[in-house]
Amino acid sequence: MNLFDLTGKVAVITGGNGGIGLGMARGIASCGATIVIAGRDRGKADAALRALREDGAQASFIAADVTKTADCQALVSGAVTLHGRVDILVNNAGTSVRKLPQDLSEDEWHHVLDTNLTSAFRCARAAYPEMLRGGGGKIINIGSMMSLFGAPYAVAYASSKGGIVQMSRALATAWAKDNIQVNAVLPGWIDTDLTRGARQQVPGLQDSVEQRTPHGRWGTADDMAGIAAFLASPASDFVTGTAIPVDGGFSIAM
Ligand code: NDP
Repeated sequence: MNLFDLTGKVAVITGGNGGIGLGMARGIASCGATIVIAGRDRGKADAALRALREDGAQASFIAADVTKTADCQALVSGAVTLHGRVDILVNNAGTSVRKLPQDLSEDEWHHVLDTNLTSAFRCARAAYPEMLRGGGGKIINIGSMMSLFGAPYAVAYASSKGGIVQMSRALATAWAKDNIQVNAVLPGWIDTDLTRGARQQVPGLQDSVEQRTPHGRWGTADDMAGIAAFLASPASDFVTGTAIPVDGGFSIAM
């Protein structure tokens, strides 16, 4: 028995064209799954496909804006057309608008909630019939330390990431009977395009994260590969509705 064998499985990863999504795609690919990465930026996707193929993975890109229901449906049906099935969905696409609550417009609020939370529901709903057809599935939703904590500049982001945890629990209870496991991953501070912007805006962020994190460093996209492999594979078949921090200990330190 190989607990981590994903040979013959197909994984769709939104925002898999860079950052944490690409790290997770590489982890899932290392177990033998075929990878479909989705996003808006084709240039970033070309580089990500090269990296995945250099690793020996079979990988495709489907352009999709996860704020559009039709794109999420076309992403799943495109993956089925290309590779025959969808077994694993990683809802990783995300964004943030760093403003104090009193400065955040309602449009900005909706944009963050739509990109980070509603998109995950859309893609999960689109993938569900394909997972049923395949006899089960794995859905991995990306939360954040902001699923646990608040921050003054993150009212919409923290709301969306708190929602990811509750949505994962609700989906997990609904679809357990269908052999679909739904879990959330809560990354700590990971060095990506998203946090490069944050470090430019927030003085001292680089050092304060290092000081608080017991491991004494920022995470890398590669640090996200193992949890993705675990939650996508048979090793996690009795794990559902959880929210697992991958944070070098950030969330357990004072
Ligand atoms: P990146 O900015 O590198 O990645 C975000 C990805 O989301 C991009 O690949 C982008 O692709 C995609 N994306 C954004 N909006 C859309 C959209 N409307 N439609 C389709 N794809 C979209 O950041 P990270 O890798 O850091 O972030 C990935 C996830 O991890 C996010 O959900 C983020 O909130 C979460 N996270 C990150 C942490 C960190 O420290 N970095 C910590 C905790 C959580 P494209 O540009 O092609 O559309």
